[in-house]
Amino acid sequence: MTVLEIRDLSVDYGQGDDAVHAVSSVDLTLERGEVLGLAGESGSGKSTLAHAMTRLLPPPGVITSGEVLYHGRRSSSDGPVDVLGLTPKELRAFRWSEVSVVFQGAMNSLNPVSTVEQQLGDVFRAHRRDMTAARRTERSRELLDLVGISADRLSAYPHQLSGGTRQRVMIAMALALEPEIVVMDEPTTALDVVVQRQILEKMMRLREQLGFAVVFITHDISLLVEFSDRIAIVYAGRVVEQAPAREIYRAAAHPYSRGLLNSFPALHGERRPLTGIPGSPPDLRHVPSGCPFHPRCPSAFDPCDQDTPALVPLGEHRSAACWLHTTSPRRRSGVGAT
Ligand code: ATP
Ligand code: SF4
Repeated sequence: MTVLEIRDLSVDYGQGDDAVHAVSSVDLTLERGEVLGLAGESGSGKSTLAHAMTRLLPPPGVITSGEVLYHGRRSSSDGPVDVLGLTPKELRAFRWSEVSVVFQGAMNSLNPVSTVEQQLGDVFRAHRRDMTAARRTERSRELLDLVGISADRLSAYPHQLSGGTRQRVMIAMALALEPEIVVMDEPTTALDVVVQRQILEKMMRLREQLGFAVVFITHDISLLVEFSDRIAIVYAGRVVEQAPAREIYRAAAHPYSRGLLNSFPALHGERRPLTGIPGSPPDLRHVPSGCPFHPRCPSAFDPCDQDTPALVPLGEHRSAACWLHTTSPRRRSGVGAT
């Protein structure tokens, strides 16, 4: 069951010739209760996609095309909620209750002069006006317990908490209104690896317990493969492959996905040489013609620098945008094939 559907979403920063085309014609779906990982080099557009789908895009970011449709519990018999069409008031009700976000620096956005209890209480005061003070405290205790923090920390100020505990408080806040979708953009990058893993394991257990779906963004491909059900690989603002995490890890279909995976040590099995990807990501003001990966692709052949491959299904659960997997007229006639 699809909970969020992104159709043909494009985002630019700025306008005219100098506009940065950060997200281009992205189609993605998020299923109820799944963890969808977004992978790609720095600057590939992952955060912009996350900001756009939650309507948190800061200026000069502009959504130039597309739709974001929410099929969760607030959708009515009239159909899904058109997220991009929500009024500011509707958006305030939608955020936190239906979709919440945990960003990398979230732990630093706690108010330094308010206790944990006051800050959790603020969420309820803003969104659950009929909640009594006693119920707010009770619910705040439950939430701290949920994320593995002792209830006596309710009276603590942020400076009295470790980075890991502050990030757990942010996760508690994100879960306070039991949203159906939690977007986690580099949620643990600022923390040491042990705390990082503890928090992610906790988050995934909570996901099983509470049933929310997660959009998970991290630079660490190993973590992404381990914690995601499905992965979408993003290059130059486009989704170039999506598939179940295990399938991508076992045999990526897109040369860029392979390059990305070969830039990280293997999780299991035999050691493999780390090869990396030659060259650098393109300037998103001037994306290369044809397949945007062609200047760096070890498998590029004749049509790649001219014709843009579409994201097409390769079997039931996988899709990729690469001419290697489709039969172009030129390949059929054998011109330039390698
Ligand atoms: P990272 O992993 O480093 O966070 P990312 O994949 O999330 O990178 P984005 O941060 O979404 O990528 O950036 C996508 C593109 O948009 C990049 O080329 C970036 O330089 C550009 N960009 C992001 N924010 C702005 C902005 N405020 N103004 C102009 N360009 C921007
Ligand atoms: Fe490489 Fe061509 Fe496939 Fe692009 S379309 S990834 S350049 S083989």
